[in-house]
Amino acid sequence: MTSLEDLPLRPELRGRTPYGAPQLAVRHALNTNENPYPLPPPLLADLATALADAAPGLNRYPDRDATALRADLATYLTRTSGVPVEPAQVWAANGSNEVLQQLLQTFGGSGRTALGFTPSYSMHPIISAGTATRWVDGHRRADFTIDPVRAAAQVREVAADVVFVTSPNNPTGTAVDLDTIAALYDATPGVLVVDEAYTEFARAGTPSALTLLAGRPRLVVSRTMSKAFGMAGLRLGYLAADPAVVDAVQLVRLPYHLSSLTQAAARTALAHTDALLATVDAVKAERDRIVAALPGLGLTSVPSDANFVLFGRFADAHAAWQALLDRDVLVRDVGLPGWLRVTAGTPEETDAFLTALGEIAADHR
Ligand code: PMP
Repeated sequence: MTSLEDLPLRPELRGRTPYGAPQLAVRHALNTNENPYPLPPPLLADLATALADAAPGLNRYPDRDATALRADLATYLTRTSGVPVEPAQVWAANGSNEVLQQLLQTFGGSGRTALGFTPSYSMHPIISAGTATRWVDGHRRADFTIDPVRAAAQVREVAADVVFVTSPNNPTGTAVDLDTIAALYDATPGVLVVDEAYTEFARAGTPSALTLLAGRPRLVVSRTMSKAFGMAGLRLGYLAADPAVVDAVQLVRLPYHLSSLTQAAARTALAHTDALLATVDAVKAERDRIVAALPGLGLTSVPSDANFVLFGRFADAHAAWQALLDRDVLVRDVGLPGWLRVTAGTPEETDAFLTALGEIAADHR
C-alpha cells in the first residue's frame, strides 16, 4: 500500500494530520459548536421551493459575484450592527474557512507571516501552512486574555502580514474589546482579520469590530452562518471590509466557487433571519446555566461570549473527556492542559452534560 510518505508531498505537510473533531455516533454531541435546534418549518418549505426554482438553471454557471446574496448579507450586517455596510464591502464563500483561506492566499503566502493569539481557532495556523504562510504564536495572559500593549509590541516586532484576532475567541469563549483590536490594527502594516464566527452569542455590551471598519482599509471582519444561524451544513461564510479588500480577494477566488444552490439556500435562510436567530437567546441561557453550575461541582470556566464554555480544571483533561464519552456525552479536548470545551445547546443537552459531569467531576479534578 502506498503511504503519504511515498508521495512527493510538500515538505511542510509531511507528518501532519488532517484537522477535524471526531464524528462519533453519540447521544449528545457537544463538540463542534453547532446549533442543535431544528430549522423552522416555514424555512424548510421555502428552501424546497428555492432549490426547486434554482435547479433548472444548473446547466449554467452561478452568478460568479454572488451579487444578490452579498446585498442580503450587507442588509443583515447593517440591521444588526447599526453600521452601514454596502454590498461592495461584502464577500462570501463556502464557510468562513474558505474566506480565511482566500485572505491568506491574497495577503499571506510564501515569504509572508501570519500571527494569531493562541490558544485560538486551530484552523488559522493550518490554513496558513496550506498557503505557505509562516505562522507565529501570539502571546496571551494566563487567564487567556490579550494584553494589548504586549500584543501590539509583538505584532510590531514580527511585522506580521496577516494578524488574526478571534472574537469571541475559540476555544476560550471570551470576546476581545475594541480598544485592543484598534491597537493591533495600528501596530500592523498588514491585514487584521477579526474572526467573529460566534459574535451573535456575545454578552450585552460587546460590539462587533464592524464598528471599527470606517477609515481602516486593512481591517477585515469574518462571519459565518454555521453557528448562530444554525446552518453549518450550508457552508456559507462571509467577510466585511473595505471594497478594495473584496477586489483583492477576486485575484485568488476560484471562478464560480459558490454554487447556485448555495446562493439560493443562503438567501432563503437570510429571509428567515429572525426565526433562525430566535434560538440564540435560548442557547445563551444554556451557556449561562452551564457556567453557573460549574462551581457547585468544584470546577470553573473562562468567561464566555460564545455558544460554548471552556471548563476545568481537570488533573487529566483527556481522562475526563473519556469519562464523559463513556456516559454518551462528547465534548472537545482542545489540547489545553486541564481544560475541556462544551457546546451549549438545548436544555436537555445541558441536563445530560451536567449529570454526566456530576458523576465524574470529583474523580477528575
Ligand atoms: N472561525 C472560528 C473561530 C470557528 O470556530 C469556526 C468553526 N469551528 C470557523 C471560523 C469556520 O466556520 P465555517 O467554515 O463553518 O464558517
